[in-house]
Amino acid sequence: MRGKKKIIRLSKSCLSTLEKVSVKKVLDKEFLGMGPEVQKFEKELSRFFKRDVVCFNSGTAALHVALQSAEVGLKDEVLVPSLTYIASLQAISAAGAKPVICDIDDESLQISLDSVKKNITKKTKAIMPVHFSGSVGNIHQIYAFAKKKRLRVIEDAAHAFGSKYKNKKIGSIGDVTCFSFDGIKNITTGEGGCLVTKDTKIIKIAKDIRLLGVSNDTNNRYSGHRSWVSDVYRQGWRYHMSDINASIGRIQLKRFNYFSKKRKFLCKHYDKIFSKHPLIHTFNRDYNQEVPHIYVIRIKNLKKRSHLRSDLLINNIQTGIHYQPGYKYTKFKRSKKLFPNTEKIYKELLTLPLHPDLSVSDIKFICKKINEALENLQLFK
Ligand SMILES: *Cc1c(COP(=O)(O)O)cnc(C)c1O
Repeated sequence: MRGKKKIIRLSKSCLSTLEKVSVKKVLDKEFLGMGPEVQKFEKELSRFFKRDVVCFNSGTAALHVALQSAEVGLKDEVLVPSLTYIASLQAISAAGAKPVICDIDDESLQISLDSVKKNITKKTKAIMPVHFSGSVGNIHQIYAFAKKKRLRVIEDAAHAFGSKYKNKKIGSIGDVTCFSFDGIKNITTGEGGCLVTKDTKIIKIAKDIRLLGVSNDTNNRYSGHRSWVSDVYRQGWRYHMSDINASIGRIQLKRFNYFSKKRKFLCKHYDKIFSKHPLIHTFNRDYNQEVPHIYVIRIKNLKKRSHLRSDLLINNIQTGIHYQPGYKYTKFKRSKKLFPNTEKIYKELLTLPLHPDLSVSDIKFICKKINEALENLQLFK
């Protein structure tokens, strides 16, 4: 029997003593800024992606700088899906551009190519696909379309660290790919993020922008110095990563193989249990390619999601909502008529606990409690 007090968390950081030892080493050095740990972490990530990497203090910062480095700014429009974290939208508006929210495909939950075609204008400068839950959906079609229209593609791959398309890692293909290392992502640095690209011009500009625009300061920082006298050519931000954060990330990267296997294993288990349920739709995912970041189900005709969520919470099961559609925020409001697919499904989506410290018995317990809760017909009225 499960103890009454243990909450099954929706998501969490998974830290071993290795991360703690690593952080302590940095603290003992009494140099906490951007230095050798960030340099090493970037090198290790570069080996992982086989491309250059620039680290930041958040995934949002990585997206913002990716756009700015790709010269997306004032008067430009960026196409972005409805079902994403507010960070994608705010990064676009931080760059001075306008996020044009598009509808999603109701099975992949990714930006819909049809909607992209409907929303493109002369001002469209880039597409920001979001690899929702870690799956990459129709990414090849988005790239083919972007190529035809000469658009840049800035991938929000915050959910997709380690995911692959046709056996190639996301980040090792494509234009500019941004990852997040916040506390609950597939690997964490506490807070952090990175951009990956083969575009050497973007790498160079992004390195300056993250250090307040100070030109060529990165290499000085790595050797424990800084540029006291230098020039500034562009708007910059204080977005660099610190050695404390990088020291956590370096260990997490070493443990990623385990995290990845565990996440896939747990999702397959959920899929298997729910496969027979008449009301629960599990999205058709290929865990040979995708490293799942969140586990989302669709409950057909569900009307009272908040009741269901409180029923589960009484049983110590946390759940989440990914996401409130972007066009519902006052700042980014668009008519819901433009989003038939999102409107059709978003109220029926529910995110269940997923993190590497979950066990099979946790999964069984969660599924059992969901099955019991769904017997209440009031949830569908
Ligand atoms: C986490 C996340 C981000 C932003 O990353 P932060 O590191 O939290 O700034 C962007 N987009 C999506 C879809 C995310 O889940």
